Amino acid sequence: MTWSLASYTAAGTPGFGVLRADGTLVAPPDLKRWPSPLELLEDWSAAEPVLRDLDVENAPAVEYDALLAPLRWPRKVICAGVNYRKHMLEMGGELPGSGWYPFFFLKAPTTSVIGPHDPIVISAAARARYDWEAELAVVIGTKGKNIPAERALFHAAAYCVSNDITARGYHKREAPPADAFSYDWFAAKSAEGSLPLGPGLTPAFLVTDPQDLRLRLWVNGKLQQDESTADMVCTVAELIAAASEVVTLEPGDVIATGTPSGVGVARGLYLRGGDVVRVSIDGLGALENPVIEATEEEPS
Ligand code: MG
Repeated sequence: MTWSLASYTAAGTPGFGVLRADGTLVAPPDLKRWPSPLELLEDWSAAEPVLRDLDVENAPAVEYDALLAPLRWPRKVICAGVNYRKHMLEMGGELPGSGWYPFFFLKAPTTSVIGPHDPIVISAAARARYDWEAELAVVIGTKGKNIPAERALFHAAAYCVSNDITARGYHKREAPPADAFSYDWFAAKSAEGSLPLGPGLTPAFLVTDPQDLRLRLWVNGKLQQDESTADMVCTVAELIAAASEVVTLEPGDVIATGTPSGVGVARGLYLRGGDVVRVSIDGLGALENPVIEATEEEPS
């Protein structure tokens, strides 16, 4: 039976428990050892055997008001760009030969990440052009630097669903002072609330093969993306290895592994206020976020 560690709020108090496949939330007493999912991940070598033995069938049910982002907050959010073959083609690229190296960018963790049902608040500016990107996210549980790909999945504690919301219109800069400043990855990728994450963290030991997961994304019930993680250019293990050559991967880091084909920009489709975006990965659950247009920018 598959399940995930989910964060919730009940009468204003946050907590975390186990979200079961049937949608019910339970609180196994063994989880009380850790105040939060981040602290559980920091104690991963002790937590993993406890999770493997968790009695999720008979644990007491929890009444909750809403699910929160499963991890508050990821230490780092590292995102892979163009990592699916068919997506490379739809973005006007060519399939890479040997020697391809993963392309990464960052999102600001505490301001980008939102919960599995939180609204995606988009700017009313027509030129922003918000797009969707269904992605498998892997959560690090074991610290490492220069991790070999063959050992990389050992460092993965959990998986979840993510949606790498992208403001396409803010990406390419007009008249950059030099080629190095042609693309504004910060404005395009790191907008407030641009990473719906969840619904919970499914332990890696419940995921038989991260390269055999079906991702789907719907906008207003219409299927837009439907692909297997088998279409990835670099595997999850290769992405972990490559990212760890740049930085030390730490417990609570999230790596979004790229989106498959079916993004809006390839067909001139963008999100609008009133839309509902649903993203599912078989076995990991689903996100469902309404899109709201910001009325005005308020100083705070
Ligand atoms: Mg992406």
